[in-house]
Amino acid sequence: MCLPVAGSLPASKTHAKGRRWAFLPSADATSPSLGTLTIVQSKRDTVSYGIAREEGQVLFAKLTDTAEVYGVTCDRAGRPVKCNCKGYSFKATCKHVDTVEELKADGIL
Ligand SMILES: [Zn+2]
Repeated sequence: MCLPVAGSLPASKTHAKGRRWAFLPSADATSPSLGTLTIVQSKRDTVSYGIAREEGQVLFAKLTDTAEVYGVTCDRAGRPVKCNCKGYSFKATCKHVDTVEELKADGIL
């Protein structure tokens, strides 16, 4: 099963509408990456990540030359509780946390 899936994200303070995500599962079952996730907040703010799960965290490895990795920590029940990105440290919320919530709700994670 390697069908792409997509969904929307709730509005944020900076992006009132149009926030969404798309996920393409990895075709390689042995790969540590679950697949490629793209988060769109606006035309200019569109970022793709390789997604992996590790010890209570969902890792977002930015697919750019900067190769930043963000980790969303989940609680025992699997709910996302925090992220180590800069945005989260300022606003206590971020697109990574929002997306993990949606991916869990859709049974992807
Ligand atoms: Zn984040």
